[in-house]
Amino acid sequence: MSYVDEIYAKVVEQNPGEAEFHQAVKEVLDSLKLVIDANEEKYRKMALLERLVEPERIISFRVPWVDDNGQVQVNKGYRVQFNSAIGPYKGGLRLHPSVNQGILKFLGFEQVFKNSLTGLPIGGGKGGSNFDPKGKSDREVMAFCQSFMTELSKYIGADQDVPAGDIGVGAREIGFLYGQYKRLTGLYEGVLTGKGLNYGGSLVRTQATGYGLVYILDEMLKNNNKELAGKTVVVSGSGNVAIYATEKAQQLGAKVVALSDSNGYIYDADGIKLDIVKEIKEVRRGRIKEYASAVPTAVYTEGKGIWTIKCDIALPCATQNELNLDDAKALKANGCFAVAEGANMPSTREATDFFLANDMLFMPGKAANAGGVATSALEMSQNSQRLSWTFDEVDAKLKGIMVNIFAKADDAAKRYGVAGNYVAGANIAGFEKVVDAMMAQGIV
Ligand code: NDP
Repeated sequence: MSYVDEIYAKVVEQNPGEAEFHQAVKEVLDSLKLVIDANEEKYRKMALLERLVEPERIISFRVPWVDDNGQVQVNKGYRVQFNSAIGPYKGGLRLHPSVNQGILKFLGFEQVFKNSLTGLPIGGGKGGSNFDPKGKSDREVMAFCQSFMTELSKYIGADQDVPAGDIGVGAREIGFLYGQYKRLTGLYEGVLTGKGLNYGGSLVRTQATGYGLVYILDEMLKNNNKELAGKTVVVSGSGNVAIYATEKAQQLGAKVVALSDSNGYIYDADGIKLDIVKEIKEVRRGRIKEYASAVPTAVYTEGKGIWTIKCDIALPCATQNELNLDDAKALKANGCFAVAEGANMPSTREATDFFLANDMLFMPGKAANAGGVATSALEMSQNSQRLSWTFDEVDAKLKGIMVNIFAKADDAAKRYGVAGNYVAGANIAGFEKVVDAMMAQGIV
């Protein structure tokens, strides 16, 4: 059995019930096979892959809090500190009922390579809880966040582990978490990113993942003699990533015709009016269905099905495994020629393989959504310098980073004889830097 197959079998055996983690490891290891086979003896001796797939540490804790009826609630809390070879652990916190250790391990594992690709000195981690902020009052969300941070604060720090937002964690939650960290430790430091602009946040962080996604999409299109202007785009989700991907795509001349949430999707043949979406989602925390009541040209459909809408470009920006093989086939049949992932692993393995086998341009999440964490790292730099850069300065750096990520993925794919396969390219380029650092630092 090859070293790669051996390690994958061990991961499945030793991490039972963690399907998303298995899926992420398989996808990465398969595309690294060429590199690993070429260095097998060296890597085996150093147990490099065994170390790469095992988190340095997982912290798991209980999160008790009191709801508005005076009832005590208990949630599970986690922080997966996956790999610190190239910098302090960095990665978001997710608050969603589906959160479990396996999902956070998949996200932490992906984060290691993504952070490496940014070219910035950040290791990989991820955390969160099965707490559901939906339908909770502000006081309940604060009570949860304060309890969560009371435990988490023991394990994080500006030079140790710097969490950020993810699904269910936006400006409100980061504010509550930061306030509690400061109160417990007395430290006013860059321990979280995605902070408000008045207390250490960076301009562009809110927009960064969505903008970055469109910057790298644009770069991929240009390099393949295509352009974004005039194209019809379908975006799934209607959260942070989806909203700002839509905004940048519109700024660059594309027409975004659909958005969704976990209940259903809207189709607006005239193009999405983003100010209305922002009012529904960012101000009122409402459902995407409300868009169809406000805009006569829009149609709302309950349930899944967003990928059956005809488009040139698809940007999945909701959650993992939201786009399966049938969806991929429907996209292709309708003329879609490019897919870039705003979410983490939104396409199933079968869907990804279909895109690659059918010559569709495909940019995987770990490259395409790296703009968020890259801008978080820029926020850390500003915090350390006690300076704030302008919107244009940060935006220009973000764009430069995304163009550079494309170049690295493109170059690695070409070097290993799989030109145009940006899945392999991104994995190889991310892997090379982490592995060099791990080899240099000895057996740790
Ligand atoms: P938000 O919580 O702001 O938005 C998530 C969106 O996805 C919502 O519209 C939500 O709908 C929808 N969604 C969530 N779960 C499901 C589900 N199971 N089925 C269908 N729709 C669902 O999160 P973000 O926009 O921040 O994150 C979206 C994705 O992007 C995630 O995969 C995240 O890991 C990834 N990402 C985010 C980054 C960031 O900077 N925010 C950085 C890099 C990656 P509903 O409201 O109904 O739940």
